[in-house]
Amino acid sequence: MAGIESPHLLAGTGAPRGVTVLGSTGSIGCSTVDLLERNRGAFRVEALTGNRNVELLAKQAIDLGAKLAVVADEGLYGQLKDLLAGTSVEAAAGDQAVIDAAARPGGDIVVASIVGTAGLRPTLAAVRRGALVALANKETLVSAGAVMTREVEQGRATLIPVDSEHSAIFQVFEFDRADAVSKVTLTASGGPFREKSLDEMAAMTPAQAVAHPNWSMGAKISVDSATMMNKGLELIEAFHLFPVDEPDIEILVHPQSVIHSMVSYVDGSVLAQLGSPDMRTPIAYALAWPKRMPAPSQPLSLADIGTLTFEAPDTVRFPALRLARESLIAGGGAPTVLNAANEVCVAAFLEGRIGFLDIARTVERVLEDGPVGALGSLDDVFAIDADARVRAELLIARS
Ligand code: NAD
Ligand code: MG
Repeated sequence: MAGIESPHLLAGTGAPRGVTVLGSTGSIGCSTVDLLERNRGAFRVEALTGNRNVELLAKQAIDLGAKLAVVADEGLYGQLKDLLAGTSVEAAAGDQAVIDAAARPGGDIVVASIVGTAGLRPTLAAVRRGALVALANKETLVSAGAVMTREVEQGRATLIPVDSEHSAIFQVFEFDRADAVSKVTLTASGGPFREKSLDEMAAMTPAQAVAHPNWSMGAKISVDSATMMNKGLELIEAFHLFPVDEPDIEILVHPQSVIHSMVSYVDGSVLAQLGSPDMRTPIAYALAWPKRMPAPSQPLSLADIGTLTFEAPDTVRFPALRLARESLIAGGGAPTVLNAANEVCVAAFLEGRIGFLDIARTVERVLEDGPVGALGSLDDVFAIDADARVRAELLIARS
């Protein structure tokens, strides 16, 4: 059984909370900035970081009165500095500067919304100083698993999930009665290809894969939703976040994305969290935790929706689900390999170098091919991750 036993409570001082947003220019980042703009009195912004979009980053930082804006791409430092000239916002650039931003003690809450393994070191910097980490970056937990949760315990950090399914579970999970939990059910929309045949899926383009029916998201997670690798990553994420065993985490396709996930108890009760599909609800929950704050999400009208439907996931058309579960069962570095190979394959698909079905096919071959070492330290994570990336690139180059 994995997972964090119970969240450490923050002492509520009533003062505005300092917030740092890692990846403020992305989909989750922009939703977070929107909430901060609407609730200015409750927060002060310590730092915002982005990868390349300096115009948006500077605009956000000036608008929110951030102390610091960091662009990861060092070549854009001059541009960022020019955009911030005459304001009180400090500029910085480079990967280390992103990590340093996460380490600044002024960020009581760090929203970890960088996409992919690039978010690992900055998230760790926040974890190690005991910050409250609003975690959107699921790849971090999948890749570093037990190493990450150990760092959370040692740093006395608090992880509040932002992923909508995990936020739902967090909201209804009775941490002080974890042994009364019989099952956790992660709901899945099924993505844009839920009703497509394998033949149809083979011909799908990046534009079709990123057109999600319910959620508006960044390109990588949109492709992950189309392959359903996203739900596979979320299975592993749930295993690390909550004290549940792998066989007790179930995946259920629910195309309307209204029930965000559920927890079943031994007495037959099932507790669920519902809402309109808008990431500002789980982000607001994490920003205000353990309180609540208003979010502009569409109020849920079940009468208008009328029907909620459910179906079992199809692991033949969506093998990524099987691969993720097998990786979790194999343990050690297997989820690290799964995550790294998937990141490489999704990038290759978006660049038109491989077809849609090649994503899971290649990930499977990378998992089968290589030795999977134990995951004792962060160095192991980086070594296994780097090796899997090389092997995935080689398979893609040969295909
Ligand atoms: P996105 O691509 O829209 O944004 C990613 C952010 O990370 C951007 O600010 C980008 O500038 C930054 N970034 C990218 N590469 C970087 C690098 N090498 N160094 C520093 N910064 C870098 O992605 P997103 O959809 O907002 O997703 C972010 C994370 O949240 C992902 O891990 C995703 O799985 C998770 N998540 C997203 C959603 C959603 O609705 N978008 C829902 C649940 C979980
Ligand atoms: Mg999710």
